[in-house]
Amino acid sequence: NPVFLLSATDVSHFPSEAKTYGAPEVAFLGRSNVGKSSLINSLLGSKQAHTSSTPGRTRAINFFALHEGAGAKMKVKPTLIFADLPGYGYAKISKSISAEWPQFIEPYIADRETLALCVCLVDTNIPPQANDHQLITYLKQTQRPFLVVGTKADRLSNNVLAKNMAALKREHEIDEILPVSAKTDSGTKALWQRLMAVAE
Ligand code: GDP
Repeated sequence: NPVFLLSATDVSHFPSEAKTYGAPEVAFLGRSNVGKSSLINSLLGSKQAHTSSTPGRTRAINFFALHEGAGAKMKVKPTLIFADLPGYGYAKISKSISAEWPQFIEPYIADRETLALCVCLVDTNIPPQANDHQLITYLKQTQRPFLVVGTKADRLSNNVLAKNMAALKREHEIDEILPVSAKTDSGTKALWQRLMAVAE
């Protein structure tokens, strides 16, 4: 029972403790079209994340509160907060993520106190992308805990998926990628386990 909290277009809009009760937050990051809203919808079992694809909200961070069991609107501490960040890589001309991202993205990642995990989505169907690499490198620098998730795994045979995942790991210099499919729901249980591990 996810509750949409708000859509932030400025640092000053990020939900305060009065709204989140200081619950741990999971941020979802990825290139436009990587399958971020499909994955969030499949995790939430709802169409809530589609608010992020409505015009005007695409350049915003959309915050959702997740409650376990209890009524969604109850004034209790949420289990987790989801933060759906704007997709990058849309403007072909921009060479760097920071040039393209709204100015509130880096402050969000660097300073958001309750941010417990960054879920960084990469498409398993395409070669390693420079802007994904840039984000992963940035996350390493910030020392924020992050998890790389490979999307649209259903489109590939096991063989090709394994090959592509190996290339992504090598190029992005990471130890692990969790393959998922929003279409078949494969991998989403494993992802949930990782998300719940940061919940209190
Ligand atoms: P976003 O821009 O990152 O939010 O990406 P979307 O969730 O809107 O997905 C972009 C496109 O990829 C859409 O056409 C989706 O139907 C497709 N897509 C997303 N996830 C999957 C998946 O797990 N499997 C397959 N086959 N297609 C997917």
